[in-house]
Amino acid sequence: MKKTILSLLVLVTGLSGFAQNTSYWQQHVAYTMDVDMDVKSHEYTGTQKLVYTNNSPDALNKVYYHLYFNAFQPGSEMDRRLQSIADPDDRMMADGKSRISALQPDEIGYLHPTSLTQNGKPVSFSEEGTVLVVTLAEAIPPGGTATFDMVFKGQIPIQIRRSGRDSEEGVALSMSQWYPKLAEYDFEGWHADPYIAREFQGVWGDFDVKITIDKNYTVGGSGYLQNAQEIGHGYEAPGTKIKKQKGKTLTWHFKAPRVHDFMWAADPEYIHDTLQVENGPMLHFLYKDNAAIKENWKKLQPKTAEMMQFFSKNVGTYPYDQYSVIQGGDGGMEYAMATLITGERKFGSLVGVTAHEMAHSWFQHILASNEAKHEWMDEGFTSFISHLYMNEYMGEKKTNPFEGSYKGYNYLVKSGKEQPQTTHADRYAENMPYSIAAYSKGEIFLAQLGYIIGQENLMETLKKYFNDFKFKHPTPNDIKRTAEKVSGIELDWYLMDWTQTTNTIDYGITAVVADGEQTKVSLERIGLMPMPLDILVVYADDTQETFYAPLRMMRGEKENPYPNLTRTVVEDWPWAFPTYDFTIAKPLTAIKAIVIDPSQLMADVNLENNAWENK
Ligand SMILES: [Zn+2]
Repeated sequence: MKKTILSLLVLVTGLSGFAQNTSYWQQHVAYTMDVDMDVKSHEYTGTQKLVYTNNSPDALNKVYYHLYFNAFQPGSEMDRRLQSIADPDDRMMADGKSRISALQPDEIGYLHPTSLTQNGKPVSFSEEGTVLVVTLAEAIPPGGTATFDMVFKGQIPIQIRRSGRDSEEGVALSMSQWYPKLAEYDFEGWHADPYIAREFQGVWGDFDVKITIDKNYTVGGSGYLQNAQEIGHGYEAPGTKIKKQKGKTLTWHFKAPRVHDFMWAADPEYIHDTLQVENGPMLHFLYKDNAAIKENWKKLQPKTAEMMQFFSKNVGTYPYDQYSVIQGGDGGMEYAMATLITGERKFGSLVGVTAHEMAHSWFQHILASNEAKHEWMDEGFTSFISHLYMNEYMGEKKTNPFEGSYKGYNYLVKSGKEQPQTTHADRYAENMPYSIAAYSKGEIFLAQLGYIIGQENLMETLKKYFNDFKFKHPTPNDIKRTAEKVSGIELDWYLMDWTQTTNTIDYGITAVVADGEQTKVSLERIGLMPMPLDILVVYADDTQETFYAPLRMMRGEKENPYPNLTRTVVEDWPWAFPTYDFTIAKPLTAIKAIVIDPSQLMADVNLENNAWENK
């Protein structure tokens, strides 16, 4: 008897230990970097002091850094991936060949630590492609802190993807993924993914960065400039004179608090404009002094203020005092407090790319789900809110602002190339199924969630999700649980089927027959994925009514999405039943048409069987 009690006690203690391990924690970094940039040779040298706090319950014997620029070398993993994928990114190809494979030694990118110490003692380190593996001199205990001092040298590659020198539009330096960046360690362990042109994940912390560069270059990027009065270049207080530094270079001093990355760009021909958002951040615009784009870039500025307010109102307040829109890179890419976009675009496209990249601030930057594992939570949610903005403010006014994504998703399903959204971003067979899964299917996750729980609940879910999980790397379960708490509807089935499988939705109307003075409607579930159904009935006199068949496993109901129409809630549809009947209390002759989901927010892969017409 005693023995039993004792073993029970052991068991209970063991369990509580397990519970502690699953409670939330995150690592912390504080970088101090001093970088010298040679704009002629495109080489740079730097020192980096990294204070790393291990808030995990684990002792760490190793740490990993990303050395992203090493990807831009012939024979790298990125190069081999480019050569072997069926649908390579056009930007990275020339004459059907990998541009990386053709790089000369003075055109490649590299990032090499030349010395590294931990608390003053040398540690052993080795480069494995784009990842630096560091075996620590002494383990960092749970709750412990280590200071890493590194000296590094780098070379900026010719612009091939995202970062690099001399972009197609003539921007001199697009400096993203440019410094040795500590990999994230979280409840899943290390995330030292090799860089093969896709997604990122970083540790939150504070960046203190000094960049010494040719004094003719204007610099923009993450972080607040600390010495604006010595720098000028449009950063000085309006109407004041700057204290000119002597010599051929300027040292720019930036501080970026509570970010997980630091990007910068520089060009000798940048125009630098600013615009203060009312009750919001200061916006900076840096773009080439090019007559062909100037007018669009001026018109972009009030639109950027408008979208900043739209996202702040609909998702949550933007928590920084600055945001910069910078011409650079090779398309559009989001970074902490800034974006790099190509600038030679029509006005609508310029606003569209800015809206998308700025919207990333909420999802990629501030929520920061692991983009490599849950790419749909970043690209998809970003697409959702930026399309809402474009629809409301750029005159698109579509009934379904997400229409294009539903079309894309349908295309993917029909292609037979769909992979579940749980696929690691690097491991899709081709780029197309990745893009549609991340952007379109990710956007539909939210749009369709609105169909399931109601539009008001959806927007409240988004706000609560942002508020509860900002700066916390949320996982898919977090958005699901938030929606459940807001709506009172159970959604595990939705998260699982939509994101972890390639099950599709297909409901159809099989028969509409007279049943005396009433009408019997027969429906079928053809697809494996369950859904609740909104059914619109149009009568011969053109009046309309809706019927709502909740899914039994939802254990709840949404509000009437068509408050101007009478809604009848019919019996729950249990998923395992392939067919379902309900009765309309009017004769068959009085019915003109019946439509499943008139909103088309439910991603039914076959719309042909969704409508019935009385002929
Ligand atoms: Zn994006």
